[in-house]
Amino acid sequence: NRPPRLHRDFMMTRACSLQNASIRIMQWNILAQALGEGKDGFVRCPMEALNWSERKYLILEEILTYRPDVLCLQEVDHYFDTFQPVLASLGYQSSFCPKPCSPCLDVHNNNGPDGCALFFNRRRFQLLHTAHLRLSAMMLKTNQVAIVATLRCRLTGRIFSVAVTHLKARSGWEAFRSAQGAHLLQQLCDLTTQSHLEIDVENRTRDGEEGIPLVVCGDFNAEPSEEVYRRFMTSPLGLESAYKCLSEDGNTEPLYTSWKIRPSGESRSTLDYIWYSERAFQVDAVLRIPSEEQIGPDRLPSYHYPSDHLSLVCDLSFSQQPHRLM
Ligand code: NDP
Ligand code: CA
Repeated sequence: NRPPRLHRDFMMTRACSLQNASIRIMQWNILAQALGEGKDGFVRCPMEALNWSERKYLILEEILTYRPDVLCLQEVDHYFDTFQPVLASLGYQSSFCPKPCSPCLDVHNNNGPDGCALFFNRRRFQLLHTAHLRLSAMMLKTNQVAIVATLRCRLTGRIFSVAVTHLKARSGWEAFRSAQGAHLLQQLCDLTTQSHLEIDVENRTRDGEEGIPLVVCGDFNAEPSEEVYRRFMTSPLGLESAYKCLSEDGNTEPLYTSWKIRPSGESRSTLDYIWYSERAFQVDAVLRIPSEEQIGPDRLPSYHYPSDHLSLVCDLSFSQQPHRLM
């Protein structure tokens, strides 16, 4: 008799017709098994709730509840023995990029390094290109990574790139995160505008000025007040944050995407984002954030929910491009 899962509804942000084939994106820091058991110190979460033999099913259940077309995960330290084989059998193609010096490796009986993983529905998309990036900050290599995959939708023929990343954690590292963000934006700009992909880019405007549409999912470890958030908000890539749709003014991030209690105290913060090219996509639906009551007094992770970060899910669809009808 397991406690019930958190029930979350979608907020429909616009009336969408069925022919408007939307792409469901899921962003989730699933909590590395080695960190959850060995490093995080979630003092209000019973150790039994962290047993991998059961927790892995809660993670898979969460993913399969929403059945995303594109799944972006952080803190994956069970890729080869769990997520790759299980999700492959369910139709997902994937890529894994471990952190060069994962803190998981410090934990006794670890299962290897954690890293970012990107999965997509292989019936729906054809993979055109994959890049594994090691993020730099002020020219120096860091321990953070990103994956960028360029996909062609088999339904519509449209091309887009999707990136997954996990920026440096902890307070005191704000400038470092900002530098990592700047490097990632530069790499994304290069990857989506250079013609080295040799794609006959249908998505570009006639004058070829605009690059491949982009979706960027990540645990940025940064509140919206941080510089790295501002950098993404104001970059030349024209990115917008999908979860702002949930707010009344349409311009405010959720109150939290992560909520946990460590020996140092309770921490409720907005750290996770789904960015999308504003000119190319529209948001059709966003999965609501559970209430404080749903999350419960012991916060996350818990018997109800397997990570300290909430999953973010949204449906994006390509906007009509009037200039292409001419
Ligand atoms: P980060 O500082 O980015 O954080 C690593 C992980 O710790 C993240 O997944 C983060 O989760 C989590 N975390 C954040 N805050 C806390 C907290 N207060 N208590 C516990 N965990 C927290 O790590 P780096 O990638 O920069 O790596 C630094 C670490 O790597 C060092 O602490 C060291 O242990 C380890 N290391 C290992 C080496 C090796 O060879 N094995 C070599 C060098 C370093 P979230 O993102 O969800 O907040
Ligand atoms: Ca973590």
